[in-house]
Amino acid sequence: MYVSTRGAAEKLTAAQAIARGIAPDGGLFVPEAIPSVDGEFLTRLTPLTYQVRAEAILRLFLPDYTAAELTDCVAGAYSSEKFSNTDVAPVIKITDGTFALELWHGPTSAFKDMALQLLPRLLSCALKKIGEQAEIVILVATSGDTGKAALEGFKDVEQTRVMVFYPEDGVSQIQRLQMITQEGNNLRVMAVKGNFDDAQTGVKHIFSDSAYNASLAEHGYKLSSANSINWGRLVPQIVYYFSAYADLVRDKHITQGTLVNFVVPTGNFGNILAGYYAKLMGLPVNKLICASNSNNVLTDFLTTGVYSRNRQFHKTYSPSMDILISSNLERLLYHIAGGNSAAVSEWMAELNSTGQYRVSDELLATIQKAFPAGWVGDEETAATIGQVYKEHGYALDPHTAVAWKVAEKYRRQSGDVTPAIIVSTASPFKFNETVLTALAGSDSLAGKSEFAVLNDLAKIINRPVPPALAELEHKLVRHPRVCEKQDMPSVVKIELDI
Ligand SMILES: *Cc1c(COP(=O)(O)O)cnc(C)c1O
Repeated sequence: MYVSTRGAAEKLTAAQAIARGIAPDGGLFVPEAIPSVDGEFLTRLTPLTYQVRAEAILRLFLPDYTAAELTDCVAGAYSSEKFSNTDVAPVIKITDGTFALELWHGPTSAFKDMALQLLPRLLSCALKKIGEQAEIVILVATSGDTGKAALEGFKDVEQTRVMVFYPEDGVSQIQRLQMITQEGNNLRVMAVKGNFDDAQTGVKHIFSDSAYNASLAEHGYKLSSANSINWGRLVPQIVYYFSAYADLVRDKHITQGTLVNFVVPTGNFGNILAGYYAKLMGLPVNKLICASNSNNVLTDFLTTGVYSRNRQFHKTYSPSMDILISSNLERLLYHIAGGNSAAVSEWMAELNSTGQYRVSDELLATIQKAFPAGWVGDEETAATIGQVYKEHGYALDPHTAVAWKVAEKYRRQSGDVTPAIIVSTASPFKFNETVLTALAGSDSLAGKSEFAVLNDLAKIINRPVPPALAELEHKLVRHPRVCEKQDMPSVVKIELDI
């Protein structure tokens, strides 16, 4: 069963928790007990495909789904039609002891696909199980990657509608094109005049407006979320930690039982938290290294025990990590504090009213044992892309480059030589301008279209442009509209025809 981190909501089944998204007391749903696995389980995973590994892990967290339902959900999510690499999430050896776990072979070229291909299927199934009659309206505010991945994941999924809001000038050209050309009958995309915070605040207001929600309900609609606050988005991410480990054993890079480190480029703390669940379950993980860009709120928290969002927001080369409130930290605190929901509620109330909270030294020490942390700025990020390409012939996107550099610094400072898996969250093509500049200098962009930049990058790194990105050049624009931020509630109603 699933409970709220804030302790004031009833226990729910997995299907109910996934359909709800966020707990009614404002908390996040977490599993009441974390399943554990043994060496034998890991041995059994080793020869299996990603899909079968996924079923084995998901079954442990979603006991109310039948085996047939899970097989069906997984087969749809990770089919060869959706993922260009037959391994789905391949592990690439870069040096002795350093590996890249590539999570970007899905339809939108970023790691959000790993979860957002599965979540809509788990949700659809959940709606049938709990007998929900309402149509679910997924509202998304996006700084780029989540919006497109949600659109692709929910495209033509029965009983769901998706409305994506993105900041008019706050996403890359590729990200904008990916969204405004989206096909599918249940989807709408709208630019908002403002920045990402304006779009996110607008969505939050809609969620918390009870009169508004009641009027939607009268017309048979219920709002829900595709952000990583939804358990259905977190649980698919646990799988690839196990899968990466199984690959290393299968390919004889390690023997089973050997500890490994994962280095994770972090924003909302969803990805790295999934790694922590894997560790708690018994996967031989030594450290989960938390890598940030200059929005280094997590580095500061993991160093001092004070979480403070009272700081300047920086726009960086790794925009998907430009975040000051890492929502999933709430789940970590709940588990580390031994399920103390009163303490969690207090910290979150403080964060809400003063913008910060502090955890005890004892708690901090426990967190630090599992999560070393570090951050790098844009200049070092670009230099890392250049250096890694020169030394190893491997092109990193800016988010993954942050992780690479933090891993390097961590190794130097700690002397820890545990094999490290760098979690690679985006294709270098998705951030083509930053990557091309890092590899070929700033003149390399002069006067070039988005697509010329993609082609130049393909020539330099000798890899094909992902077809879904190349095709954007000739796609019809279906969602050209822009709205004022205060009009977001009425835009949703108009789109729903009410
Ligand atoms: C979303 C995203 C991240 C951050 O992941 P979190 O789960 O929010 O910590 C990192 N890199 C890329 C490319 C992303 O899209």
